[in-house]
Amino acid sequence: MNFDQTDAQMAIREAARRFAAAKLAPHYNTRAREHYMDRSVLKEMGKLGLIGPDLPEEFGGMGEDLTTAGIVAEEIAYGDFNISYIQLLASLLGGMVAKHANADLARAWLPKIIAGEAIIGLGLTEPRGGSDAANLQLRAERSGNGWVLNGEKTSMSFCEQADVAIIFARSGDPDGGSRGVSAFLVDMHDKGITRTHFDDLGTKPVGRGSAFFDNVFVPAECVMAEVDRAFSTIMVGFDYSRALIGLQCLAAAQASVDETWKYVREREAFGAPIVQYQGVSFPLAEAETQLTMMRQLCYYTLHLRHVGKPHTAEASMCKWYVPKTACEILHQCLLLHGHYGYTRDLPHHQRYNDVLGLQIGDGTAQIQKLVIAREKAGRVALQYAKQ
Ligand SMILES: Cc1cc2nc3c(=O)[nH]c(=O)nc-3n(C[C@H](O)[C@H](O)[C@H](O)COP(=O)(O)OP(=O)(O)OC[C@H]3O[C@@H](n4cnc5c(N)ncnc54)[C@H](O)[C@@H]3O)c2cc1C
Repeated sequence: MNFDQTDAQMAIREAARRFAAAKLAPHYNTRAREHYMDRSVLKEMGKLGLIGPDLPEEFGGMGEDLTTAGIVAEEIAYGDFNISYIQLLASLLGGMVAKHANADLARAWLPKIIAGEAIIGLGLTEPRGGSDAANLQLRAERSGNGWVLNGEKTSMSFCEQADVAIIFARSGDPDGGSRGVSAFLVDMHDKGITRTHFDDLGTKPVGRGSAFFDNVFVPAECVMAEVDRAFSTIMVGFDYSRALIGLQCLAAAQASVDETWKYVREREAFGAPIVQYQGVSFPLAEAETQLTMMRQLCYYTLHLRHVGKPHTAEASMCKWYVPKTACEILHQCLLLHGHYGYTRDLPHHQRYNDVLGLQIGDGTAQIQKLVIAREKAGRVALQYAKQ
């Protein structure tokens, strides 16, 4: 396997890094307290090609490889974890739209998403639970030349801000599990949709909430993939998000580690810089080791996906291990700043709260371990969970 980056990848890493250092990092901590995305920043990102660089050129993307999408997610998250959600969802959901949506609709939405002019969301989770994702109830009934949606989606990232969303709904057998599930590309400003806002611990500029669908009519061309068969077709895309989420989370931890090295070289106690005490330097040395390993795992997973090799287990490894370890590293960084670390002036607690959400979002650690067990031992590993 070649670990070298191509010239194109190095160039986009440099562009993303410069943008993150100049425009994102200085305002991350204050921006993190706001309840909405600063859309002007998103448009700047769009102009620089930092949203969905892997999306096809025919839809306004650059057609770059998946590693490049990961590089952008990592560099943006280093500056502002919350803004990196834009890149994550553009690459993940935009890719699904490019592949499975009506081409005219894809041509209408994707250029706006890539330009930072529209935000895309995902409506999968429902109030009865997100882990058993296929067991969903939001109803889709045929009506004239389209469908009518009724029900509730919950825990949607960008719930109030999304302009368009992929909404999974039950169009077939109510007890059919993953069979009988369709997906719709829905304009979230459509009549009949109301949205709420949760008071979350972190990722406030992203925001989560519930979306209520009350007799929402969607034209037939909004159906993605095949009616009743969307779940298994589209869900394979989530192996992609898991590697990108890993890169987002480790980048936030890397930012705190870099800041902490600087601090412990300057801060003195007992007549010496505290970096001389191994109780201080070893946690950081351990963090650097973990970050390097995790980064390799995430890019390895993207590489496997890029070359079309199985990567479901590796993606789940990224998803359970990286957010958890990143939180542990952020906790250490906060402590190594002593009493200053406990203030809101420094970003470590903020990064911790922001990353924490992704220990749950996109599937918990338990669900990822079930996936890994299924990949290694077969479906017998899931029998107790009746899946
Ligand atoms: C920051 C954030 C962003 C999110 N963004 C979105 C989004 O954009 N769109 C969307 O649709 N959803 C989103 N979600 C929802 C997320 O996908 C779900 O919260 C997640 O899948 C878990 O579902 P749940 O919260 O209903 O927990 P439950 O499914 O009720 O699970 C509760 C607990 O039981 C455990 N558990 C469940 N089943 C098993 C089992 N078989 N074995 C062992 N343990 C088990 C779980 O691991 C968990 O600890 C987001 C969540 C967060 C926190």
